[in-house]
Amino acid sequence: MSFPEVIEQSNQVLQALVDAGERVIGYVYPHPPHEILIAHGLKPSLVRTNPSVVGAYEASLQTFSCSLTRNLFSQRVSSSFPLLAGIVFSGNTCDALQNVGDIWRKRFPEDRVLRLTYPVGDFGEASVDFLSMEIEALSNELTGLYGVAFSESNFRTAALLLHEIRDVLQLFYTVRLLYPSLISYNTLSNLVGEFLTAPTQEASERMKGKWEEVVEKLDTNQKNTVEQLRESLLNQDLSDFEAEIDSANHRIAVIGGMVEPSTLAGLMENIPGITHTTLVLDMLSFGFKTVFTPPVSIEGDPFRESARSILGAHSEPTQEGLPKRTAFLKDVLTKLSIHGLIVCEQSFCDPDEFEAPSLEKAAEEVGVATVKLPLDSELSDRARIEGRIQTFLETINAS
Ligand code: SF4
Repeated sequence: MSFPEVIEQSNQVLQALVDAGERVIGYVYPHPPHEILIAHGLKPSLVRTNPSVVGAYEASLQTFSCSLTRNLFSQRVSSSFPLLAGIVFSGNTCDALQNVGDIWRKRFPEDRVLRLTYPVGDFGEASVDFLSMEIEALSNELTGLYGVAFSESNFRTAALLLHEIRDVLQLFYTVRLLYPSLISYNTLSNLVGEFLTAPTQEASERMKGKWEEVVEKLDTNQKNTVEQLRESLLNQDLSDFEAEIDSANHRIAVIGGMVEPSTLAGLMENIPGITHTTLVLDMLSFGFKTVFTPPVSIEGDPFRESARSILGAHSEPTQEGLPKRTAFLKDVLTKLSIHGLIVCEQSFCDPDEFEAPSLEKAAEEVGVATVKLPLDSELSDRARIEGRIQTFLETINAS
């Protein structure tokens, strides 16, 4: 499915939810407290960029706004934004998101603009304390705005649903790494896209149905290896993971910031020389990092457990923790036999631009070739980007 098709399908799903009387709340930063939002009777949905909307409304935004935030704001200005009951921006992550949230609230006072402020990194219980208070404040704001109080029983149902969805998506990611012929990257990115559009019971059932098809092709040893790798990826520790990886064909991974797997899948589909087993892993914010988030425990305080889960996810370029991220990347590249790494950067994204050189250096230190891929939300440079990927693949194939 191409990215415009993903957006069209996502809009149809959102429209169907709204028609059915659901309230859809948008989020921009990839780690919203899904379970808490659902506990207020809301459906959380990623606010996507739209390549067909040109970022023309830059006069309202500071020069440090990235292409992603410009595109979102332009969609709102041109009234091509999906129907949302509200939108949650993040605070304390990057200047661009802080800025666009402030401008949005000022320019469109009729919109329900909320903010969830994150700690700069995971510093144990102090960060849990901070984020849990912020999530609770958000929950209180939701009660006031929508008149629906936090429901403990909805929270429990949501925690179970999100656990099921993430669990099965983690298995797909792991199978893609170990046995890439069993699930295409396109299928994986479509399933992740469904999660991002709306984590519903129907989406969960479709994912489980697909998993039934995949799992019957695995023997017992393979199932054990899949489970072992999934745990290692979730715990961000590959030190105990050992397995034979079939690396006869070249294996590529992608890393970067706020990019969706379907954007990548769309870019890859027309590139000569790429096979259905080439792209084995994305480590993107809207893909791998969102999926490999530990489950929210239903024991204990819901706000603290929600905070603990969010902070347990793989950290973002907007957060402290670069040495841990580069160490994990090196383990992934070596233990999972990756031959080439594509480093994605949203245009004008400071966090991506600061992080990219360290990622390239880490890959270089373990002998893995890299290419940097600047992307804007409109993919205005698509032909050149595809050419760059093609040249990169040719270089790896020749080595
Ligand atoms: S792409 Fe970068 S600058 Fe833009 S919102 Fe995301 S982290 Fe912030």
